[in-house]
Amino acid sequence: MTFDSRSLPSFIDEEKIESVIAATAKPDAVRVREILAKAREAKGLDADETATLLQLKNDELDHELFTTAKAVKQKIYGSRMVLFAPLYITNECYNRCAYCGFNAENGDLQRRTLSEDEIRAEVEVLERLGHKRLLLVYGEHPRLDADWMAKTIQVVYDTVSEKSGEIRRVNINCAPQSVEGFKKLHDVSIGTYQCFQETYHQATYQKAHLGGPKKDYLWRLYAMHRAMEAGIDDVGMGPLLGLYDHKFEILAMMQHAADLEKHFGVGPHTISFPRLEPALNAEMAFNPPYPITDHEFKRMVAVLRLAVPYTGLILSTRENAQMRRELLELGVSQISAGSRTYPGAYSDPSYDRPDVQQFCVGDNRSLDEVIAELVSLGYLPSWCTACYRLGRTGEHFMELAKKGFIQEFCHPNALLTFNEYLHDYASDVTRESGKVLVEHELQECAEGRRGMVAERLKRIDAGERDLYI
Ligand code: SAM
Ligand code: SF4
Repeated sequence: MTFDSRSLPSFIDEEKIESVIAATAKPDAVRVREILAKAREAKGLDADETATLLQLKNDELDHELFTTAKAVKQKIYGSRMVLFAPLYITNECYNRCAYCGFNAENGDLQRRTLSEDEIRAEVEVLERLGHKRLLLVYGEHPRLDADWMAKTIQVVYDTVSEKSGEIRRVNINCAPQSVEGFKKLHDVSIGTYQCFQETYHQATYQKAHLGGPKKDYLWRLYAMHRAMEAGIDDVGMGPLLGLYDHKFEILAMMQHAADLEKHFGVGPHTISFPRLEPALNAEMAFNPPYPITDHEFKRMVAVLRLAVPYTGLILSTRENAQMRRELLELGVSQISAGSRTYPGAYSDPSYDRPDVQQFCVGDNRSLDEVIAELVSLGYLPSWCTACYRLGRTGEHFMELAKKGFIQEFCHPNALLTFNEYLHDYASDVTRESGKVLVEHELQECAEGRRGMVAERLKRIDAGERDLYI
């Protein structure tokens, strides 16, 4: 079956979602504790259980939820935290999304699409900082098609410097493509294809998307299906929080994941949960119709950790440093750091650029500052890209993850990439504290693996790079 059609039916059952939310609106403590006991086994939650936890109204139960989420996070991911940076390639866009600074009607925004040389310059800056994983971000414009995007991705991979290294995984966030378009992106070896439905609620979707191809809810809804049909195993999804009731969005996203699983045997590799941030001339971003409070947001992340234990949870710099700190222990497994949100930003010495950026960043710290804090909190920063390069993607990755593979492979690979970072990019202060962490984490390696990891760490100390298992 092909998903390359504009006339497929929606698989989002809005009525069912509303009825599950209504039926679980008054969570009973006994039932909640049963759900939390099940969640501890890290086998995921169904819609009913998820809706129940999203609607807790009692501090004690909230506390138990947070404790359970922390335990599951620790059990599956340990101390490791994956790092990446977004790289904006173009802010040209002919859509009219009422919440985005790049929307076509924003006449005050300076439009810019990076040339190949400008992309190279941006990548060189990011490489000098120590980044190995990038998320390329694109507005949508007829001139900027899949062939052009594929070229920009190739430029990023080809920008290799003897001194600063190379980008090892390029993920992308761009408009939905046809299967043929996705094949072109697959052919240049993208990692994850990321696309947010924004809102799964059709009436709200129509109000937020006033013009341009993005108005077509169903074409976007099947974007992941077409990406997978084109051979892209790892896809990333998410709602844009603030447009509609977050409980509805989470349950709808679970239906989305279930439909992918039905057709392709695997759901999303990652989930993101951006909250609306102020953006130039985007009224809806300043006054979100369904704002989600900080506490609801934290609860939602904890519930997601329990509902889909093996799916990566991504947190961007939309959130401020304090919120990011709290969300790390509740379930987040990947964060961006040192991010800028406009094309050419990393080569631009000025900081705050409302005239070109997509939205306001909440955490403006540099990558090294974020790493130093992660280390002080006991997290092991990781730039690992081994799975994607060894073909451990999609269903294959999920099967391995469920067998405890994350600790067995990801932890050693995190250590190896972190040791590279300490040698090549870290400030003196970060290097000192980082070395202590490396020693500590080496002892945490399974006994059968410790010797092999220690030997590779030494090879990195001696100058070898890009070692992974
Ligand atoms: N143009 C493509 C699209 O819309 O899918 C990809 C790039 S778009 C810049 C990436 C994401 O930014 C959107 O999917 C949306 O969720 C998010 N976004 C847009 N405006 C935002 C805002 N004001 N605050 C936070 N996130 C926003
Ligand atoms: Fe364009 Fe994407 Fe922004 Fe919408 S969210 S205006 S499609 S860049």
